[in-house]
Amino acid sequence: MPQDPLSNNQAEIRSKTKLSKDHPKIDDYLRSFPSAPDAASRKRKREKFTTEGARKVRSVRNKGACVACHYRKTPCSVDEICAHCLKAVKNDYSLAKEICVRNKMQDSYFGVKTIAIFGSLEARKGALDPLLQSLSGNSYPVELSVKSSIGSSDTAVLPLRVRQCDLGRTCRWKGLSKVKGIYITSKSIYAPRYAVIPGCVSFANVEKFSCQVLSLSLSHSGGITRFLDDFMSTYSHYSRSTELREFVRSSRSVVGLNGLVSYGSLEIRDGSYELLNLPPTDIPFVGPTVHDQIRLLAAGGLEIAEKTVFSQIDSFKKLVGPNKHARIVGGICLLRLLLLYRDRVLRDAIRVSLPREKILHRERLEQSSFMYRRLTVAYGILCRDANTPITTSWVAESDSVKWTKEDNILQTQFSRLQDAYKDFCKLSVQLARNHANLPKGDTLTDEHDDLFKGVVVNSRP
Ligand SMILES: [Zn+2]
Ligand SMILES: [Zn+2]
Repeated sequence: MPQDPLSNNQAEIRSKTKLSKDHPKIDDYLRSFPSAPDAASRKRKREKFTTEGARKVRSVRNKGACVACHYRKTPCSVDEICAHCLKAVKNDYSLAKEICVRNKMQDSYFGVKTIAIFGSLEARKGALDPLLQSLSGNSYPVELSVKSSIGSSDTAVLPLRVRQCDLGRTCRWKGLSKVKGIYITSKSIYAPRYAVIPGCVSFANVEKFSCQVLSLSLSHSGGITRFLDDFMSTYSHYSRSTELREFVRSSRSVVGLNGLVSYGSLEIRDGSYELLNLPPTDIPFVGPTVHDQIRLLAAGGLEIAEKTVFSQIDSFKKLVGPNKHARIVGGICLLRLLLLYRDRVLRDAIRVSLPREKILHRERLEQSSFMYRRLTVAYGILCRDANTPITTSWVAESDSVKWTKEDNILQTQFSRLQDAYKDFCKLSVQLARNHANLPKGDTLTDEHDDLFKGVVVNSRP
């Protein structure tokens, strides 16, 4: 006999209320339960409790549970800082205030749109348009390139074709120099303006280039970002498509494209400088128009990738859930993203400390700092004391009998990453004080990393 869909509910109500042993029908409840003002006092008490509970649940619901409670399915409170978060940081009120957040990532992130120096993408495009309509003369093949900054002879190359502009014939070329670990304009010359011929480079190629650059450049957080990038690269190239893999791909896009869009992170060289018939120089020169065009192309794609990534982080409970493999992989992406913003914090802080500091440099520093902290909160939710997504044992996507070549590679890359991660966290606690001559940034600092130290590193028992 097929089960009556109501009978489950009925059983549930019965077990909760324990009102009757003679198996009443659901209709009996519908008649007597809500319309029984003069029922027994025991029942009234329960109703009062239920109303009180419901009110509490309702007000938490209105305010929204904090992201940690939402993820862990623990009951949150309406207080500004919930008990759960306060306990998680051992009653450190100022840390708790930062981790008990209720707004969604996608409603609060500072993305490419708000990179102050860049203005709005539309305005920037509008300013470029007249120049691009005035291209004339021969078309020349050039290469935008980034040399390895980790000692290898590799170079990432993006082939382009340029033509000279008739409008605004001359422009200010920027020669980049490394100052305290960041690239700033140190030399400039006025020379003929070249621009990329519209349509000669696709966004897909720009994205590919940006990911190649990742494997050649050193971050301010030392070796660990390389290992994260290697892992994410292998993972995203694996053919079977899953939601988790999509998250890895879009995270990787965000990291790669950010490098191209944000200023001062790359020793980028613009091939069109060689067309100027000037004596060769070691200083990499970038034509502002070519650079802008590539940054704009990257920024357009970055805007989309960011939207995807931050909404995926908001639904992390669904994406990761109880799946141990997903927790590791999701954690790796969150760690990479937070280190991206940490890098920017350190770079922006250096920029602010240099002469000719502008308000926008300060604004950028505040924005990168906000993102670094907010992503640290997201990563912290996946950590339980000493058990973090990176320090746990490797769990493959498929069970061990079905292991593929990729599973083996990922396991090896994960174990390298674990060592780098342990170093990164250990540095923060002891070595930072003892090794003053370690490059700044390789160690967690008191100034910028308090939240990461508080919720990830120091939360060990
Ligand atoms: Zn909470
Ligand atoms: Zn909370």
